[in-house]
Amino acid sequence: MVEELAQADAAVAACVDAAAWALSEQDLIAALDAAHRLEQRLAAVKLAVIRELDGRGTATAHRASSTVVWLRERLRLTIAAARRLVDLAAVLDTGNPGVRHALADGHITVDQARVIADTIDTAHTVAGPEAADKSLGVLVEWAGQFDPTLLRKLSTRILDHVAPDIADAAAEAALDAEARRATRDRHLTLSTLADGRLRLTATLDTETAGLLRATIDPLSAPSGPDDERSPGQRRHDALRDVCRLALRTGELPENGGDPAQIVVTTSYDGLTGQLGGGTLDTGLRLTPEAVRRLACDAAILPAVLNGAGQVLDLGRQRRLITGPLRRALVLRDRGCAFPGCDRPPRWCDAHHIHHWANGGTTSLDNAVLLCGHHHRHIHHSDWTVRLAADGHPEFTPPAWLDPEQLPRRNHYHRRT
Ligand SMILES: [Zn+2]
Ligand SMILES: [Zn+2]
Repeated sequence: MVEELAQADAAVAACVDAAAWALSEQDLIAALDAAHRLEQRLAAVKLAVIRELDGRGTATAHRASSTVVWLRERLRLTIAAARRLVDLAAVLDTGNPGVRHALADGHITVDQARVIADTIDTAHTVAGPEAADKSLGVLVEWAGQFDPTLLRKLSTRILDHVAPDIADAAAEAALDAEARRATRDRHLTLSTLADGRLRLTATLDTETAGLLRATIDPLSAPSGPDDERSPGQRRHDALRDVCRLALRTGELPENGGDPAQIVVTTSYDGLTGQLGGGTLDTGLRLTPEAVRRLACDAAILPAVLNGAGQVLDLGRQRRLITGPLRRALVLRDRGCAFPGCDRPPRWCDAHHIHHWANGGTTSLDNAVLLCGHHHRHIHHSDWTVRLAADGHPEFTPPAWLDPEQLPRRNHYHRRT
């Protein structure tokens, strides 16, 4: 097999060197089809090899804890991708051999193979081997027309086609099997990128998906007519708001004896003079603006250092707008006070109008309630906020937005 693969490798190398621009459109499409088919057939070969290695216990012999872990190291895959390979290799080996053949012949794709194998397995359990064989024929034909997602949807009614008399009873069993698969395939991967951002990939089971949607969707709505964030950015910010709310409850389990919280380390100058930045406890650098905004928030603990690197306890209690003070603030502002925003108090931070690090007091006449998005906005844009003569907050837009700079108020929570 190694020799044949070396020949295939040489053939592929010749294709890489061939000039695609010289081909007619018809030939290009034929080349695309052929490359795609070859990819699936090669996948069948790879899966068979993986299955054999798994069966021989090669991973253990190489001191890896499992074939999945060994594959991750060997092929430099994510753990989730390695697990999918090992699982599918097992399913193709132990299930109906027709699926393996269809993949090896290039009639179906790897993702379709997964769907078909699962469906046939269910059909076999609820309707017997004959129905399973018939299902295979129908599904492979469908695979010629439908992508894996649609195929998965159609496959839930496969018995309507191959065993109509028991289809309804079986539909329930199929639903159960589907739910078990969703439970098996659930995962959430957090991979830290070099610049400190996080790539999040996940497949949520139905219940968790429902929970996430119920939580994120209302928070993902635009926060007013001036909200220029994309839907993706709004979902991102909604997730941030949910995490902050959870952190603020103080009910998360302790992490190595400390309460779950974020610590920002900064210098006194960094906090007061917008000079230098800060560092998150994850080691990540922050801009001075971000440090000042985060230090405004009760869920975040600023560790402020003096010139000698000693910790100055800068009125940790004094800076927090909590208890009766927060309740008074909620009564006054009734939600995010930014013009046009409809976020209720639960999603709001108490912002110090005059920053506490610069001597601003922690009192009602120096505080304003802002949602996460608008709190960020007030720290990072040229909008300013003050309390008007009647004691209610008003916001002044930057000159480039409104040359007359007329102060604006929130009319959502309080009609005037
Ligand atoms: Zn603030
Ligand atoms: Zn807001």
